[in-house]
Amino acid sequence: MRPVEYKKGKRRQFENDDAQLCAQALCLEEMFGLTVERGAVFHAASKRRREVEFNSELRKLTEDAIHGLHALLEQSQIANRKSQIPKAVFKPACEECSLFEICLPKITGASDRLARAAKGLFSV
Ligand code: SF4
Repeated sequence: MRPVEYKKGKRRQFENDDAQLCAQALCLEEMFGLTVERGAVFHAASKRRREVEFNSELRKLTEDAIHGLHALLEQSQIANRKSQIPKAVFKPACEECSLFEICLPKITGASDRLARAAKGLFSV
């Protein structure tokens, strides 16, 4: 069993793509009780496929990210106050992210820009 993650951009290597794929492998391993050693990222724009090995380093990176997310969500719920989830930080990978139009990292990542955008939307 080999998971394949489709990306719309051209062939590039981003650590977060590899961790996303590795997280899928961890889910498959847990669901089916098997070991998934490799997967691939398919880049649609360049029609190229990049092999990814789920080595111990990538597994640790992925598990650390999962634990960090759980801790963040737990902290936010315990605090019972405004979400502690950090703001999006715009980076090159964002340009090809399928969530770009929803996440709006260029606007939401900078509090002054968000405030100006909101003011422009809701002022009469
Ligand atoms: S657009 Fe948002 S979700 Fe996508 S990579 Fe950038 S920060 Fe992450």
